Amino acid sequence: MTQASSSAANFAQLGIIAPLLNRLTELAYVLPTPVQAATIPAVLAGRDVLAGANTGSGKTAAFAVPVLQQLVEAKTDDKSGAYVRCLVLVPTRELAQQVADSFLSYASHLNGQLKIVAAFGGVSVNAQMQSLRAGADVLVATPGRLLDLLSSNAIKLNRVSVLVLDEADRMLSLGFTDELAQVLDALPAKKQTLLFSATFPEEVRELTTKLLNNPLEYQL
Ligand code: AMP
Repeated sequence: MTQASSSAANFAQLGIIAPLLNRLTELAYVLPTPVQAATIPAVLAGRDVLAGANTGSGKTAAFAVPVLQQLVEAKTDDKSGAYVRCLVLVPTRELAQQVADSFLSYASHLNGQLKIVAAFGGVSVNAQMQSLRAGADVLVATPGRLLDLLSSNAIKLNRVSVLVLDEADRMLSLGFTDELAQVLDALPAKKQTLLFSATFPEEVRELTTKLLNNPLEYQL
């Protein structure tokens, strides 16, 4: 894990609010990593983000912490029915669980204000449907299981305000191109999109051109 130099801004200076800061202190996150320092202010400002970041760079907190802050501060969102406010797409079920666990951990001083759910294949869909019945503030999902949930009307994606694509290159190399296209079609046109990828092959670059609007770009 890379850490920023001591002259860099800390999390408070990046604009992170107290309940999240307290959790980062408990986790002994003293300074933001470079990807966090670059992307957190942009995410909080509502900008799209395109970040080149490997596992170990601190990329999960780079999107999860400011997204939680935005969701907790936005009081006006419609939270009726099977709503989803932030959709995080990931390539594998292991990553889905890990990213959802990170969101839960960072949110632990938000007094249960936000509901965080993971949905992935290889396990029964029933429990996931049950926990999504009253909606979710953050849904971390693999594309295949997300489409199952969509086609059985267990969720609606028309109120997604933030879309995160984590490990976009792996998602496409694992053959999720068609699934991803179907999911993207179900999302509102107006949303904030954050795309994280370790590498930028042609397929990923095409996706970024299609999806991102004047993004903050970060490359190691
Ligand atoms: P990631 O790249 O998101 O998989 O994170 C890699 C590891 O770095 C995880 O164990 C995080 O808990 C840890 N981590 C993330 N951000 C920081 C930070 N600012 N300071 C210390 N550890 C961190």
